[in-house]
Amino acid sequence: MQLLHLLFVFLNIEAVFSLINFDLTHSIKSTNPIFPGLTPFNFTQTYTSWGLDGDTNESYFKALNTFITGEHFGTHIDAPYHGSNASWSVEQIPFERLVSIQALIVDVSKKSLRKRNYEIQIEDLNEDAMQQANGFYVLLFYTGKSKFWPDQITYAGGELREELEFPGLSVQLASYLVNKYSDKLVGVGIDTLSIDPGSSKDFRAHRILFKENIYVLENVAELQRVLTYLSNRRETLFSFDVLPMKIEGGTGAPCRIVARLENFDDAGGEWFCFLIFCLLLMLIGIAAKVIYDFKFHPDKNFS
Ligand SMILES: [Zn+2]
Repeated sequence: MQLLHLLFVFLNIEAVFSLINFDLTHSIKSTNPIFPGLTPFNFTQTYTSWGLDGDTNESYFKALNTFITGEHFGTHIDAPYHGSNASWSVEQIPFERLVSIQALIVDVSKKSLRKRNYEIQIEDLNEDAMQQANGFYVLLFYTGKSKFWPDQITYAGGELREELEFPGLSVQLASYLVNKYSDKLVGVGIDTLSIDPGSSKDFRAHRILFKENIYVLENVAELQRVLTYLSNRRETLFSFDVLPMKIEGGTGAPCRIVARLENFDDAGGEWFCFLIFCLLLMLIGIAAKVIYDFKFHPDKNFS
């Protein structure tokens, strides 16, 4: 299948495959859940008004807004500098670690339902899939908490730091990831307020990843939709882009996150591939026969 796909790229008939894009980003609104103590998003309408074009005498609409926000609001990136002074701030994260990379999702929603502040374990990983990544990739954890967005109480556990309650990475898992996978693993994402569990006091998973310049994505949206889409397919890795605001010296930034999956009906697609493959084989066979006859039976009448 992979070989055929490469052949299609070579023959420039890749267009038969289209991509379906999933926007894994929550819209930013002042009512979004927030980590206690951080600056919330404040949006004000500076003006909306009508002007008059001096040449045509036609009226036109104009509008302008202003916002103030903490860096770590809504769907956002935590730059490694957030918890490691020698690591990259937002604008220093190499572009090739953000765009046209790969991602895969680890579904820990069942375990997260059963246990408050569930600490995600090494055995929850899909290491076979991780080893198939052929370049930089991000590991995304789906805990199911995103179903409760944007309600602060059910999503985050409460409004106070001591009330926070959501799953996150165990310290063992964070250490394991940096020790075994930091050559290609560039980021870790989750559909909660933080990659450390709500009960964490000292953000140890954050700090372990940041030291190795692995960035973090928090409040990731729509992972369930991607999982559903992937459920009937053999692939687990997909194309992935992270586009944070390029804040110089930023410890984090709101970002747009996009998953790109091949919009390719498995059954129909494979039959199509098979058909093209047969046609190509037939053409190669005919060409070989013509060349053979021409070379070894030059006296044969080809007219
Ligand atoms: Zn953050």
